[in-house]
Amino acid sequence: MSHYDEEALEKFRLSGRILRETREEMRSFVRENMPIIQVCEKTESLIREKGGKPAFPCNVSINEVAAHYTSPPGDQNIIPEKSIVKVDLGVHVDGYVTDTAFTACFNPDYQSMVDTAETALKAAIDIVRADLSVSKIGGVIENTIKNRGFKPISNLTGHSVGRYLIHAGTSIPNVAQISLTKIKAGGVYAIEPFVTLPDAGGSVEDKPQKTIFRLVKPKSAKTPEAKQLLKFIEENFRTLPFAERWLQGAVPAEQHHETFQELLATRAIMGYPVFVEVTRKPVAQAEHTVLVKEDGCTVLT
Ligand code: MN
Ligand code: MN
Repeated sequence: MSHYDEEALEKFRLSGRILRETREEMRSFVRENMPIIQVCEKTESLIREKGGKPAFPCNVSINEVAAHYTSPPGDQNIIPEKSIVKVDLGVHVDGYVTDTAFTACFNPDYQSMVDTAETALKAAIDIVRADLSVSKIGGVIENTIKNRGFKPISNLTGHSVGRYLIHAGTSIPNVAQISLTKIKAGGVYAIEPFVTLPDAGGSVEDKPQKTIFRLVKPKSAKTPEAKQLLKFIEENFRTLPFAERWLQGAVPAEQHHETFQELLATRAIMGYPVFVEVTRKPVAQAEHTVLVKEDGCTVLT
């Protein structure tokens, strides 16, 4: 399914506009020694002020952490000095998802790596058009990164997006690979190169920590509190990812922890592990969401 009607496209465009404005405001907001939770909450409140909803919790992934960290409730962590910080944010308007990211660089040694992520993203966007194979996009991203002396993260990918879907079925690799999959005119795709140092492993692995969650089995809760919390999740986020921070007030505060753990234990919800580079080397990221046309694409974000 890659054909959206004009009404849906208008919602994608609005979603992208809200996201672009938010990203640009956040670029100048993020600072060393700032609490991470302040970045998450500022991003999410800007999105809401502009009339969108966060499509997923704002990810603030620092240094060797590549993706999937958002502040848990009461997060005390701060942005370290000399760090590189990937801020990954998403908006939906009536379910129509756009996704973007930038890397704030507080260490001049890594500026070239951060620029490389942006350059690889631009190189990919420059070739995107209907019926291009996803492996061609991966090849261009990989070559751009390697030509500048860096290494792509091979097991993180971009993705098609859809209505209430962050990952709508098609992956856009960051390395050349054998694939017959082609991108389609009228489809909406997030492209997101991840770049690390040349002597890094060049892939990510799961950490035990999980800070982002998603509904798996609606109507599977047993206790009244679990039913209430699950209903809140279903009504507010459907199957889009959410943060534990976003559940405050859904059940009485003294019952929150136990109830949340019950939903995890019964697999009514699942958590996404935090991704870390396998050799603990720093990672940079850039991301845009594009609408594919016959002869090119429109950057929505
Ligand atoms: Mn993203
Ligand atoms: Mn993405």
